[in-house]
Amino acid sequence: RAKEEGRSTVCLFSKEMHEEIEQNLKLQMLLPGAMEEEQFVLYFQPQFNDLEELIGAEVLLRWEEPTLGFIRPDLFIRAAEESGLIIPLGDWVLRKACQQMQEWMVKGLPASFDRLAINISARQFSQDDFALKVDAFTKEANISPSKIELEITESMLLHHLDQVVEKMKLLHGMGFYIALDDFGTGYSSLSYLRELPLHKLKIDQAFVRDISSDNNDRVIVETIIAMARLMELDVIAEGVEEEYQLNFLKEKGCYQYQGYYFDRPVPADVFYERWVENPKPPSAQ
Ligand code: C2E
Ligand code: MG
Ligand code: MG
Ligand code: MG
Repeated sequence: RAKEEGRSTVCLFSKEMHEEIEQNLKLQMLLPGAMEEEQFVLYFQPQFNDLEELIGAEVLLRWEEPTLGFIRPDLFIRAAEESGLIIPLGDWVLRKACQQMQEWMVKGLPASFDRLAINISARQFSQDDFALKVDAFTKEANISPSKIELEITESMLLHHLDQVVEKMKLLHGMGFYIALDDFGTGYSSLSYLRELPLHKLKIDQAFVRDISSDNNDRVIVETIIAMARLMELDVIAEGVEEEYQLNFLKEKGCYQYQGYYFDRPVPADVFYERWVENPKPPSAQ
């Protein structure tokens, strides 16, 4: 097949792949030193309800490499997954986020603020002691597991579904919230979605982006919202950038939002100052 498509196509394709692999290996090599030198920092992106009240934040990891600058999270997370470093790095994120939540609770948070959402990669979730570990981090920080939402992805549901469901039930029983991130982009079969101990669906930004121009996306978003309601799940839309999107979502019954329309992910002190100490309604920003 490659032969049929001609030499130039093959070369271009393999060159890109080659560069991607090289970049990935380079990141894998840089990661351990980056952890040691504490080049990582947590950013926080606010989440709001339909009354424009702050209901929480998603924790997003940032890596500023001294010579390369900020590295895209999807690239370094993938590298960390492949090298196995996602385990200590993920532990660091969890521990740090729990500490931050505790600190903010002591300083004061609005009553509407429910919890911090933390991304969990498949490899992290698959650890035998994952539930015990994350429970230990909340105890260490002296916060209730109900203050933490674990964002998992559909890809985790592809293998060893029984074990995944069992672990989700355990976490659910411990009091953690569980959200299915990037919903709609993966392969989840609707039939088993019902069986999962989930609290929330996060509509992927890919469907939100073109709501104003793409009727298929409108239908998909509307269907996800309706489905979430039938299954008695919360639903939050990510990637909300425009008022039009916000109004559409609201009209269709989605009452939680996250996106550049409100704010980008920002460092902890900026987050607290901007959204807790001197809160202005997002629409007045
Ligand atoms: P995600 O969990 O789906 O996070 C949402 C991504 O969308 C973030 O990208 C966020 O900055 C971006 N975003 C938020 N609002 C908007 C918007 O209005 N428009 C657009 N275009 N984008 C928006 P980010 O921070 O680059 O992270 C990318 C991905 O990296 C995340 O996707 C998540 O899968 C992963 N990631 C980030 N931090 C962590 C972490 O601590 N652990 C793990 N396992 N994965 C992480
Ligand atoms: Mg996420
Ligand atoms: Mg997402
Ligand atoms: Mg994503």
